[in-house]
Amino acid sequence: MMEVQITCSECGSGINVYATKEANAAQCAVCHHIQEVEFHEGHEKGILTDCPVCQRRDFYQQKDFNRKIGVFLFILASILTVLTFEYTYGSIFFLFYLIDSFLFRRLNTIAICYKCKTIFRKVSNIKEIAEYDHEMNDRIVYSDHDFKGESLHH
Ligand SMILES: [Zn+2]
Ligand SMILES: [Zn+2]
Repeated sequence: MMEVQITCSECGSGINVYATKEANAAQCAVCHHIQEVEFHEGHEKGILTDCPVCQRRDFYQQKDFNRKIGVFLFILASILTVLTFEYTYGSIFFLFYLIDSFLFRRLNTIAICYKCKTIFRKVSNIKEIAEYDHEMNDRIVYSDHDFKGESLHH
């Protein structure tokens, strides 16, 4: 089932909900703000065409990369490289680079709503969703433009 992570409009915390028609509101665990959501049959099947939170149709895809793990690995690799440089000549850093890129390649792809920043996991039509476009983002966020699901460069 599609997993939806809403960004609370009041405090910015993540609110997790599953895409089912029974769910019509989600409550923030931090500030108790209630965010209305609207799921339909398409959402239940994992098909993302319109946003259940803001009803827009503009999304982008990206790797579900955990930044914290990435930074942690980088620091750990740096320390180990310095500590063992005498014996390894920096090869540990290269090893971590391989581990990191392996992890990165195995990560799932997620979809994100440009307008309200809601994150969607396990989206079945993820391949139809374009990658992040800076110009589209600026026009949606700053001038409230609605592309209605049409990609700018197609
Ligand atoms: Zn909140
Ligand atoms: Zn949205």
